[in-house]
This record gives sequence, structure tokens and C-alpha cells, in this order.
Amino acid sequence: MTTQTTWHIHMPIDYLLRLSDRRLMETLSHPDGAQGARAELRQMLAAGKTNLVAGPCDNQHPDGSCAGHPGKEQ
Ligand SMILES: [Zn+2]
Repeated sequence: MTTQTTWHIHMPIDYLLRLSDRRLMETLSHPDGAQGARAELRQMLAAGKTNLVAGPCDNQHPDGSCAGHPGKEQ
């Protein structure tokens, strides 16, 4: 039996902030729309994170990227 490490896809926050509102909302969803998403992304940058992980991730590097999940199913 082999254990596989799975990884979440992550996107650089500065890339997301450069997208138009429409493209941003095609890339991620936020209850407060594009403005709410931008506010949250800026808060993450202020907290030292430079990446946003796609999907629920409970094991992240300090920069916000996924640190991997050994033996977990996708
Ligand atoms: Zn992850």
C-alpha cells in the first residue's frame, strides 16, 4: 500500500488582485462579491500571506500555500 501526498492548488494573491471584478468572481466566490473578496485578500497580504489556497486546507505554510496532506484522499 502506498501513501500519496495530496496538495491543494494555490494562487498568488497579487495575481488575484490584478484581475477585473468579473474575472475575480469567476475565479473565486465571496459572500460580499468582488469588493469583499479584495478586502479579504488585502487582509491576508497584511497578515504576511502571499497565496490563496483553493478549497478547504488545514495544513498551510506561513505564506498561505498548501504544505501537503500525506495519505489523504482528494
Ligand atoms: Zn492543503
